[in-house]
Amino acid sequence: MFNSLTERLEATVRRLRGQAFLNDENIADALREVRMALLEADVALPVVRGFIEQVRQDAIGREIGKSLNPGQLLVKLVHDRLISLMGSENAALNLAGAPPVVILLAGLQGSGKTTTSAKLARLIREQTKKSVLLVSADVYRPAAIEQLRVLAGQVGAQFQPSDISQKPVDIAAEAVAEARRRALDVVIVDTAGRLHIDADMMAEIRAIHAAVKPLETLFVVDSMTGQDAVNTAKAFHEALPLTGVILTKTDGDARGGAALSIREVTGAPIKFLGVGEKTGALEAFHPERVASRILGMGDVLSLVEDVQRNVDQAQAARLEDKLRRGKGFDFNDFRDQLKMVQGMGGLGSLLDKLPGMSGINAQAREQLADGRQLGRVEAIINSMTAKERRFPDLINGSRKRRIAAGSGVQIQDVNRLLKQFEQSQKMMKKLGRPGGMKKMMRGMG
Ligand code: GDP
Repeated sequence: MFNSLTERLEATVRRLRGQAFLNDENIADALREVRMALLEADVALPVVRGFIEQVRQDAIGREIGKSLNPGQLLVKLVHDRLISLMGSENAALNLAGAPPVVILLAGLQGSGKTTTSAKLARLIREQTKKSVLLVSADVYRPAAIEQLRVLAGQVGAQFQPSDISQKPVDIAAEAVAEARRRALDVVIVDTAGRLHIDADMMAEIRAIHAAVKPLETLFVVDSMTGQDAVNTAKAFHEALPLTGVILTKTDGDARGGAALSIREVTGAPIKFLGVGEKTGALEAFHPERVASRILGMGDVLSLVEDVQRNVDQAQAARLEDKLRRGKGFDFNDFRDQLKMVQGMGGLGSLLDKLPGMSGINAQAREQLADGRQLGRVEAIINSMTAKERRFPDLINGSRKRRIAAGSGVQIQDVNRLLKQFEQSQKMMKKLGRPGGMKKMMRGMG
């Protein structure tokens, strides 16, 4: 997603390099570029207009701090506005109701509802350990019911059989009753694809909604349909009180405009992104991360600001120097960095700002970002000998056992830390290449 948008915005910023300050003229030029970039990404026109006007107002009269140049300032303003455009915070799945909690999925034919039902079931199983019952109210396509049955088996969810002789409303209501009888936690109701202009089908889904009173009514929409995705989301929202949107097939969508428009146009938050066909390919939607991804380089700007504000300059310089001289990044550095980032709002916020971190797998990031993990990580490093910290390759099976015992954690925790360390080391190697760190810091100027 966002490939073309990213390229255009990067070019815009490059062009602003060397300008001493933002004035009406260079704002106008830059904003024209941003506008083009957004339109090319298939963001809805009214959304683009509003967005540009907001950034313009933010920019005018803004003093450029000593540490910033106009390009950096503009990027920061665009970044902040992108985040608020997409809803500021991740809107998590709401499961906080009396069980069984019902999730109703609606959308056009082929948007990915059935696949997404299974993905959601898997995510709920993995993250909350709750029991999930999947049911298909698609009586128009017997293959859809069978598809859901197979997927339910794959993701460890219960499956409620249904068949084409039944009424969709009855199927849904019976599934909820069944879940109640069996004390299951969550029921996900997959429905037939429908067009918002099909009055009968819209009446049907409203009846299902009234019968099962879902806590979540999620509109599943194919991101590749661009502005149509936004328009259908709006029409569905008018007919059905949506609590959120799931944008599918974002892995195949280079433009990403729908992600930017949907919240603004419909008022409903995007809760998840479908990023592939497999049942694990569902990501929570984080506006801040997406905004950083759009700007292509992570939020380097605020990273630089944070570093300047919080970090022991001498220590940072030592690390940079060490990296530049090609010395290995070891666990002592890793621990120093941990201490630095503790003062900077935790690893989560730092990770989001580092370019290239999007390549690190989501699970590793979540673990790293979890504040409670920090103390544990420090304890593990403290249990290493000085030599192990310096030469982590030494850490074999028996050393791992000793370290785990010494820090009161499981061997898996030690393994996980070693893996995270390896990833950091790889990144540091990149930054340590001639001019790497400088390049990263300057990249925005
Ligand atoms: P439904 O008719 O709305 O139930 O749609 P399906 O769940 O049957 O999905 C239609 C097609 O889209 C299938 O081939 C899915 O594998 C595919 N699909 C669904 N979600 C995604 C996604 O996030 N990425 C990709 N690449 N394909 C997806």
